[in-house]
Amino acid sequence: MFIRVDFNVPIRDGVIGDDTRIRAALPTLTYGLEHGATLILGSHLGRPKGTVNPALTLRPVATRLAAVLGRRVVFAKDAVGDAVTDAVSQAGPGGVVLLENLRFHPGETANDPAFAEALAAQADCYVNDAFGSAHRAHASTTGIVHHLREAAAGLLMAAELHHLGVLLESPPRPFVAILGGAKVSGKLEVIENLLPRIDTLLIGGAMAYTFLTARGLGVGRSLVETALIDATRAIEHDADRRDMRLELPSDHVVTNRLEVGAAHETLAVEDPAIGDRLGVDIGPATIDRYAAVIADARTIVWNGPMGVFEIDAFAPGTVAIAEAVAASTAASIVGGGDSVAAIGRAGVGDRITHISTGGGASLEFLGGRRLPGVDALPDA
Ligand code: ADP
Ligand code: MG
Repeated sequence: MFIRVDFNVPIRDGVIGDDTRIRAALPTLTYGLEHGATLILGSHLGRPKGTVNPALTLRPVATRLAAVLGRRVVFAKDAVGDAVTDAVSQAGPGGVVLLENLRFHPGETANDPAFAEALAAQADCYVNDAFGSAHRAHASTTGIVHHLREAAAGLLMAAELHHLGVLLESPPRPFVAILGGAKVSGKLEVIENLLPRIDTLLIGGAMAYTFLTARGLGVGRSLVETALIDATRAIEHDADRRDMRLELPSDHVVTNRLEVGAAHETLAVEDPAIGDRLGVDIGPATIDRYAAVIADARTIVWNGPMGVFEIDAFAPGTVAIAEAVAASTAASIVGGGDSVAAIGRAGVGDRITHISTGGGASLEFLGGRRLPGVDALPDA
């Protein structure tokens, strides 16, 4: 059984930082093993761009997986060919094989049919449990399906689709979306798709500065995507027309440098005293306003930190919003690598309804997009 997993975990100098994604795959792996399957696990790690990059080997993941699974895991030095045949025979029936990084081959992201066929060679059925990669049409997420008799969604994939699907279909209202973070361009599109579904949009993080610039405010050296200023105007216009609330920060924390220990102060967003400094967190008045909206919500989706939360002095806005979301009785979904890290940092993970393992995938799904990795699977 070939299982596409998402073991794209943070690794530095061969040490795994956070193994949430490995643990999240356990239900599906255990299910397969209990039913007598031999597991061939495939994943990508980082962006090696089609060449072998020793810094992005999945070998440390094999070691960690063996520990959390409590079983031997045979590591195959390549994702296709003899290395796989050897590893599968070494693992034996009912064993577990982890393939080397799929993206060491250019055929993975190119969705090359020959590579997809080679991936399928040792398996008789396919399971996709990599929700975080479902928004990409790659050999291991779509192409491979044509080369195996049976295909299905794994338990993690099914849980993600269930939680997000319920949200899309009939979200209890008020439905509040909180968006922040750095990837402004990717998320503006998501906003356009979310607008018809939500009641209130709370904006924070770097994204806010493109909106504030469009409103004519001076934002110093804050992160602004000039090319998107018109797009934010269109979004504000659309929000007005739909009579929904779009909230921007009214105060923020500004600093000279993105560094630990840098001097900083809180200003109103209109205050020209920002000079050539940059905004790095939402301020206390914004926290209070946003927390009040969150307290009244019945459905919440959150992606993107409210500030540069990696630096303690600029984390209070993100932590306060995490606490407000946790305290609310609303159904809450948090997605995105950094957002999930922020939830962990605030220590409120157990009070979030669903923590999505897929940032990009969850946003595209909530934005109404179809996911190729899901569409490739049969309905059953
Ligand atoms: P996620 O991984 O949850 O999808 P993003 O990757 O889009 O979130 O954004 C996270 C990053 O955004 C963090 O590294 C954070 O430091 C950065 N960020 C948040 N607010 C600001 C800001 N005001 N200026 C610059 N960077 C910011
Ligand atoms: Mg991120």
